[in-house]
Amino acid sequence: QDTYDIIIVGGGPIGIACGLQAKEKGLSYCILEKGPLVNSLYHYPTNMTFFSTSEKLELHNIPFISANAKPTKEEALEYYRRIATSKELTINLFERVTNITSGKLHAVETTKATYITKHVIIATGFYDIPNPLNIPGEDLNKVSHYYGNPHFYAATNTVVVGASNSSVDAALEIYRKGGHVTMIVRGDSIGDRVKYWVKPDIENRIEEGSITAYFNAELTEIRETEVDINHNGTHKTLNNDFVLALTGYQPNFKFLKDVGINLSNDKRRIPEHNPETMETNVKGVYLAGVICGGMETHKWFIENSRIHAKMIVEDIIKK
Ligand code: FAD
Repeated sequence: QDTYDIIIVGGGPIGIACGLQAKEKGLSYCILEKGPLVNSLYHYPTNMTFFSTSEKLELHNIPFISANAKPTKEEALEYYRRIATSKELTINLFERVTNITSGKLHAVETTKATYITKHVIIATGFYDIPNPLNIPGEDLNKVSHYYGNPHFYAATNTVVVGASNSSVDAALEIYRKGGHVTMIVRGDSIGDRVKYWVKPDIENRIEEGSITAYFNAELTEIRETEVDINHNGTHKTLNNDFVLALTGYQPNFKFLKDVGINLSNDKRRIPEHNPETMETNVKGVYLAGVICGGMETHKWFIENSRIHAKMIVEDIIKK
């Protein structure tokens, strides 16, 4: 292959959607993914259940059959894996894109090769870079920004930072595996976007004292066996084994800027793109999926961004 029509950066659900669309229209394409297939999903919590019903996670009208209304992580991995293999998508795994140089054509450099292409779609999501706490001790091994399996935390003193869906799910699961959970929450309540069927569960566990929660509080320092918190201006030290800092993630803005994509000047840092075509200010370079929201990582998800694939491929064909 000398010159591709499209190189797709990122083999998440939306990168796969773009590949399906390109293939259907007879365009030459390759998806480049730095990890395993649907790498972000693969690293989600072991027991996570999607908040979307399965048909809303479907790509290209390929039925997603799930035993329950809301599919599990395992079912989603199997669904997207099955699409990639049975549709014989061209996808190179464990190959990270390191740089894109744009002129009339684009040179996409990876850890393994350089690809020349007429168009690039960046669908790199936001799950790689956690929002830091910026406090002493954050780099200790006991601190993680990713939550996997509750078993690990059984019979430990675990602090969960945050009160969003990920924090609440982790707190409840760890509590139910016999962990002693303390939530440290900056605001004065559990987050508004917490799934409506989970919110009463966490609120009741806090109220009955099964899970301790400090609201209007923040972690100020982490040490091997303790953490310090500031609660309403009062300093407290807690015994502690593990800290789960589930404070959200952000897209790789440096990568976008290196490609030449402008970011909005406000705190949302939205990468510049035409919302009708998804083309960025760099001609021939498009954005797809959750990356489009900049810091507003809750704005786009699979349900509402799978449509980007069709918009982009139609624009490419039109031009
Ligand atoms: P991602 O899935 O993040 O894919 C991006 C891919 O790009 C990754 O595989 C990554 O490894 C790869 N990549 C990054 N940088 C490079 C590089 N330089 N070179 C090569 N590859 C690279 N959405 C829903 O619609 N419904 C839900 O119920 C839902 N539940 C969620 C639950 C959790 C716990 C989380 C965290 C998210 C949830 N989401 C849900 C959001 C959903 O997972 C994301 O919307 C979805 O993963 C976005 O797909 P994407 O393809 O845009 O990005």
